[in-house]
Amino acid sequence: MSIDGRRQHVVIIGGGIIGLCAAYALLRDGHRVTIVERDRLGAGAATGNAGELTPQQVAPLASPHTARDVVSGVLSSSSYLSIAPTRLPQLAAFGLGFLLSSTRRRRAHATRALAQFSSAILPALDRMADDGIDTSGGGSGYLMTCTDERELVAAHQRYRERASEGWGTAPGAIMRGEELRDYEPTVAPGIAAGFLLPAERYLDPVTFVASLARRIVQQGADVRTGLSALRLADGAFVMCRDAEGNESTIAGDRVIVAAGAWTSPILRRSGIRAMRIVSGKGYSYTVPVERMPRQLVHSIDRHCVVIPMHDRLRVVGMMEFDERPDAFHPARLDVLTNAARGLIVGADWDGRTEEWVGARPMTADGMPLLGSPAGRPEILVAAGHNMHGLSLGPVTGEVLGALVAGRSPRIEGSRLDLRPFALDR
Ligand SMILES: Cc1cc2nc3c(=O)[nH]c(=O)nc-3n(C[C@H](O)[C@H](O)[C@H](O)COP(=O)(O)OP(=O)(O)OC[C@H]3O[C@@H](n4cnc5c(N)ncnc54)[C@H](O)[C@@H]3O)c2cc1C
Repeated sequence: MSIDGRRQHVVIIGGGIIGLCAAYALLRDGHRVTIVERDRLGAGAATGNAGELTPQQVAPLASPHTARDVVSGVLSSSSYLSIAPTRLPQLAAFGLGFLLSSTRRRRAHATRALAQFSSAILPALDRMADDGIDTSGGGSGYLMTCTDERELVAAHQRYRERASEGWGTAPGAIMRGEELRDYEPTVAPGIAAGFLLPAERYLDPVTFVASLARRIVQQGADVRTGLSALRLADGAFVMCRDAEGNESTIAGDRVIVAAGAWTSPILRRSGIRAMRIVSGKGYSYTVPVERMPRQLVHSIDRHCVVIPMHDRLRVVGMMEFDERPDAFHPARLDVLTNAARGLIVGADWDGRTEEWVGARPMTADGMPLLGSPAGRPEILVAAGHNMHGLSLGPVTGEVLGALVAGRSPRIEGSRLDLRPFALDR
């Protein structure tokens, strides 16, 4: 309800993770919800991702480290990070913003801003689970590994520091050689060492998204699939077009723009100034394995993750900038396989199924856009969750619920400072 108890009609653009979590929270608060989705619910990056819900890892991509990777991303086709040289002119401004955000000071600023959500990630998910949303198919604890011992020790130190600042749970002791292989026999021989992040969780996003979608339909959401939002008109009006080219307008009391990597063109056409969101595509597939790892295994240096999800093993990785969020490039899967081969043994790498590409909604500074454009309180933007939309989805839904109700959002009792997430920062 709004602050005066009024039931509002909220039109949500995008039926991905953020749109679904927003719809869930708003329906629970008694509002009326319409979702405008150009394809089907969960069509974007919602289902093929790594399923990680990770209070310790919700940090920006840009760092002194990744700035170096940008160069190899342009020059080499075998790097986890790839940047299409032909798209460099379109990506120049984003790239510059990314490099500027890579300094220690700016990264620390973004990290602090994102850390505000950290303590709420798992409780918000648990509230959904208690309410019957399916959060199954995964488990808890990540085995963090690295081929390079020094890099692993540095990562271990970073996670200890984060935990000492109240951000997630401290990592376990470093395991090496036989101890590591006794703990996780599927780890490949080249892996020097590893440690556990014991409290991080993961789930199967396929069943999670399906369960959320079922719930919002049961709760009476009006789901308009196959309908693209083109732009917003004055007030809370969404101009749309269907697959046959028919145009229509949907009116509500509020509009939430949650179109992930496709958000910027909608805002631009609507005359709304906002930091640009570009797509950073990732890939995943499923492989048969002789023996399932006991839990999620994350390679720090190979930039890939293998995740036991229900009864299958999903392999996830890559970050591709080519300005084509829907384009699937099979060659990227081969690069991913080369990385994953050095991570675990016993997988049938020729038996790939469920091959998938998804577009992460990336901002140069790694922070989402969360709030209203100046002078347009009827519009809310919730997009640009980078690599963390699943982790941040449930809590973002709750924050949007508060904003629609006219309340200042709180995170586990503390007031959320929304200024770092301003649209035109
Ligand atoms: C390989 C990979 C692994 C990842 N792993 C993780 C992970 O382990 N943990 C984590 O937290 N996050 C992870 N992510 C990131 C996460 O998937 C995204 O941050 C999240 O999906 C963003 O949610 P969203 O709702 O903003 O966008 P999406 O989920 O992409 O949804 C956007 C929706 O908007 C729709 N849409 C687009 N344009 C329009 C339009 N004009 N009109 C109507 N509808 C429109 C799309 O069809 C889509 O359904 C991963 C992403 C990738 C690619």
